[in-house]
Amino acid sequence: MSRQDRDVVLSDVHNDAPSCPDCERDGIVTEWIEHRFPYGREENLVELSARIPVRRCEECGNQFLDAEAEDLMHEAVCRHLGVMTSSEVRAIRRQSGRLSRAEFARITRLGEATIGRWERGELIQNAAYDQLLYLLTFPENLVRIRERVEMRERNPHSMTHVAGAFRVLNVTRGLRAQAREFILTTVGAA
Ligand SMILES: [Zn+2]
Repeated sequence: MSRQDRDVVLSDVHNDAPSCPDCERDGIVTEWIEHRFPYGREENLVELSARIPVRRCEECGNQFLDAEAEDLMHEAVCRHLGVMTSSEVRAIRRQSGRLSRAEFARITRLGEATIGRWERGELIQNAAYDQLLYLLTFPENLVRIRERVEMRERNPHSMTHVAGAFRVLNVTRGLRAQAREFILTTVGAA
């Protein structure tokens, strides 16, 4: 996600600025601070930092954090783990012609609820899923797996599928023969 995209998101949030959760008035001012927070435990414990908005009510002086601060801290955790942020995961469906979550789940065979949790930042995808998601940021890869899924749906017992199974069987036989020869040679040399 580019800096420009993020600025748009931030100003969107800013437009419907929250009212004070204590006195429910609208006079909220925002101060951006560099927030440092611990992440992980024991030998994996690190200190991360994120620039987050702190809201302050001009009426009663109450200070609070909202979902925007939470999202920015979540992003810092994703960067630390080296995985895509939830907004980057959300961007995959948007870039590919605004696919519905159900359609995206059908094509990728991922669980629809899981995709939702990744997109909302409730759950961070593991490294293997993150590699898959990264490949899906290239729309042509989504086209490839969609064609694969649709071919199977049209004809689940197609010859292509059977031929694929035989090919695997042949390779396995070949590998077994090679493995036998390898062991015999080793024993003979000893
Ligand atoms: Zn207040």
